[in-house]
Amino acid sequence: MNLSRRRNASQGHVSRSQSIRNDSGASFGCHGNYFGVTGHGGHVIARPRVVAIYWDHYFTTVSDSVVTMNQFITELVTVTYMDGLSQYGVGRGSFQGAVVISTINFPTPNSQHPGVTFSEDDMQRQLIAWLDMGIVTPQPAGNETSLVYLIFAPSDTALSLGGSTSGFCGYHQHAKRNANGPDDNLFWAIVRGYAQAPSGQNFVDSISYCVSHELVETFTNRDGNGYFSGNGCEISDLCEAGGSQQIFTVPFGRWQVEKYWSQVNGACIGPGLEPEISFSTSLLRFGTVIVGGGGESATETLRIRNVGQLDLSVTIPEPPPRPFPFWWTRLDVVIPPGGRKDVQIEFAPTQRQIGDNEGRMVVQGNTPESPTSTELRGTAKKGIVP
Ligand SMILES: [Zn+2]
Repeated sequence: MNLSRRRNASQGHVSRSQSIRNDSGASFGCHGNYFGVTGHGGHVIARPRVVAIYWDHYFTTVSDSVVTMNQFITELVTVTYMDGLSQYGVGRGSFQGAVVISTINFPTPNSQHPGVTFSEDDMQRQLIAWLDMGIVTPQPAGNETSLVYLIFAPSDTALSLGGSTSGFCGYHQHAKRNANGPDDNLFWAIVRGYAQAPSGQNFVDSISYCVSHELVETFTNRDGNGYFSGNGCEISDLCEAGGSQQIFTVPFGRWQVEKYWSQVNGACIGPGLEPEISFSTSLLRFGTVIVGGGGESATETLRIRNVGQLDLSVTIPEPPPRPFPFWWTRLDVVIPPGGRKDVQIEFAPTQRQIGDNEGRMVVQGNTPESPTSTELRGTAKKGIVP
């Protein structure tokens, strides 16, 4: 969710997002809206450096939560999960460090003002105060375009976003803080609703979907002048939920993360996940067929398997016309990960193809190496006419 565009009257989707039921962070208008995104001013974070800020007593008492979340963020921003963002000008980044905020020195908002919500502006003022005091480091440079502050909100405090306290798991925001140019230089995101679990892994599992969501959107739309769709959906919003509107995550090592929209693929992609096509053979041999006798054709099966982790879309166009001696029916199929599809190919030579025959069957798929092909070979012999 991009908070900044909430203030722009032309961006209507954010209000709809409030109707989603489980604090997902985006809207019905975004899910499955695959018209795609454009880059506007191209304001992205090319080399993200993430600073984690933990503001709850829980993080002082269960230090494993901080250790494990730091591991998760590090893996998220330094390895393959980021690679699909290169099309937007965002490369792999780094984990800059973490700060656990003392709730003795900085009591949670609710503990000071029970029942009063804590707005975007409140949070931003607090973040700037921490930066001014040197509690949170490093400070953004005057022309900063890489530092991102990720805040884990106090669990007893009701965050508000555009005046509403429901309908989001987090948001990201931007501002100027001692900026030395026209562009914003302070970029931050906040998440909430995590489990205060005794195990760091369980804590991360409860909120990793939202962390991946907000970081990806911060990286690709740092100040509201980056990548989003015509109706204001950012690249995680498009992919966070399936048809049931349930939040959809995919495994990433020992973590669970959201997919994000890939404009070049025209699809939601995950952490280094791809469909991968595998053929039972790259050369189908049909042996010898006697032309003019009884058995005038031979049939072989090519098995296509999806050994990747995303759906594989396969198209096999119709074969060339005669005298091409091989025949199959056109195929358009989606093969799920681990799935397979058998294709029957017939070698049916005529008198004109006596001798050795070669051909190719082209297979198109949504894979980097597409199109691929399988070689076909068969020999035709003249039969004895009775
Ligand atoms: Zn979002």
